[in-house]
Formats: sequence, structure tokens, C-alpha cells
Amino acid sequence: MPSEKTPKSHGRLSISASLQPRDLMGERPRVKGSWTAKIVTLFPQAFPGVLEQSLTGRALDQGKWALETIDLRPFGIGKHRNVDDTPAGGGAGMVLRADVVHRALRQAAMGTPASRKDWPVVYLSPRGKPFDQATAKRWSQAEGITMLCGRFEGVDQRVLDYHRVEEVSLGDFVLTGGEIAAQAMIDATVRLLPGVLGNEESTEDESHANGLLEHPQYTRPAEWEGRPIPEVLLSGNHAKIDEWRREQAENLTKERRPDMWDAYKGTAD
Ligand code: SAH
Repeated sequence: MPSEKTPKSHGRLSISASLQPRDLMGERPRVKGSWTAKIVTLFPQAFPGVLEQSLTGRALDQGKWALETIDLRPFGIGKHRNVDDTPAGGGAGMVLRADVVHRALRQAAMGTPASRKDWPVVYLSPRGKPFDQATAKRWSQAEGITMLCGRFEGVDQRVLDYHRVEEVSLGDFVLTGGEIAAQAMIDATVRLLPGVLGNEESTEDESHANGLLEHPQYTRPAEWEGRPIPEVLLSGNHAKIDEWRREQAENLTKERRPDMWDAYKGTAD
């Protein structure tokens, strides 16, 4: 019996129930079992955006991951499909309505596992836990993810509580909407999926993977504007090169990110 663990056979399309026609991204193949990002947004046309380029784009074309947008607008109220209303208690701006967002999240939940470990449900939010490499790793090990992109002043709290939504922030600044944050986080997650990057090793010693920032990189020409490539890199002595790179990585981390350096020393001791 083929199980979930069966190696992916490309070309098998997956089908799942839906309340409304799916806004599948173009004519891309939907490979059964491939990691899927479902994005609830008022701006589905913003996707795949930059994710369509380069390695993430190629992997998307190959069905190594899938993207599905769920337009929030059709779930809106009345003739004008209103999705927002004024904040209870007063104040500036508008808030996305709980009932509207609920219907979109319910649609997104169709065909996904109920366990938040297997399928995180995320609200992009400046109040959330800061996104980091460990979060990307954890999400890449799930079957997929649902992301809710906010707009205006945000989303009614009740729908976030009801759907056990994890709030995650791209950083300590305020964007006008969650779409850019969603794309950044999907990029970081998708590149960790098997087969997305050409060289699997390249995710192992890059910045943040091992608690250090990466060493500086050089390429041809061997001398540029009077600046040579550090000699050790041209020596062919791999033990020495590794030592030099580690030293550089440690010095950079110490200098630029004392917080990371303290954590790194803590785990090394
Ligand atoms: N009034 C809110 C900010 C709303 S910004 C507050 O002060 O917390 C509008 C939307 O942009 C948010 O709903 C969220 O989805 C998105 N957003 C803004 N900044 C973000 C960040 N740093 N990380 C992730 N999403 C963000």
C-alpha cells in the first residue's frame, strides 16, 4: 500500500474539496503530497511574486512545492463584499472581520491535517514571535502551511484565537500588509525542502544554520582593484581553509551579533 511516506511520484495531481473554484497558480502541476502554502489575502495577484523567480520558481514549476491563494474578497459581506469594519472601542483605521476571515480560513483548512504541527496556521503580524531559521526548518518539516495576510489595522482577535493561529513577525517594523512577509517566510522555508536547492549541503553552514554568520565569500578575478583574494583560499589546503572560514565566521558573529555569539558560546560550553 502506498503511504504518505512513499517517495513522491511527480505528475500525480491531487484533488480536494473546495467551496469555490480554486485559484491555483496558473497551469502549474500540483503534485500530490508536495509541500503547499495556502495564502489568505486581499491581493492574490501579488503571488507568486518574487517566488516565481530562480530556484523557488523552478521548484514551483517542477511541483516540488505548491502555492494556492485564497482571495478574501469573495467571503466579504453584502453587495460590496465588505471585509473590514471600524475598530470596537474607537480609533483609527479598519479591522478585518472575524466572520469573513473565518470563512476564508475554513476554506483553507479543507483537506489539511488538523494538527498545527503538521500544518501550521499563521498570521503575519508585527506582534508575532520573530521569524527565524529554526521556524523555517520547523515549517519545512510540516506538510504545508496556511498564512493569513492582514491589512489595515489587522484582524479581529477572536478569529485568531478560534483557529489556533500562530502569530509570526518578519521583524520589528510595520508593513502595510502581510504579503511581503509571507513571501519572505515561504522563500526561507521552501529552500529547505529536499531537492529545491541544487547543492543540499549549501544550507548546512550558511548564516544562521549553525548559530554563526557565514564567512566572507570570494570569486574570480583573483585580484580586483588591487585587492587579492585571501591567500589561504587559493592554497588548496582544505583543513586550513575550513579553519580560516570558522575563524572568520566567529569574528563576524562576535562583532555584528553579540546576541548570537552569546547563544553560540552557551551551546558550545
Ligand atoms: N495595527 C497593527 C499593524 C497592522 S499593519 C499593529 O500595530 O500591530 C497591517 C498588516 O501588515 C498586519 O495585519 C500584518 O498582517 C502585516 N504586517 C505588518 N508588519 C508586519 C511584520 N513586521 N511582520 C509580519 N506582518 C506584518
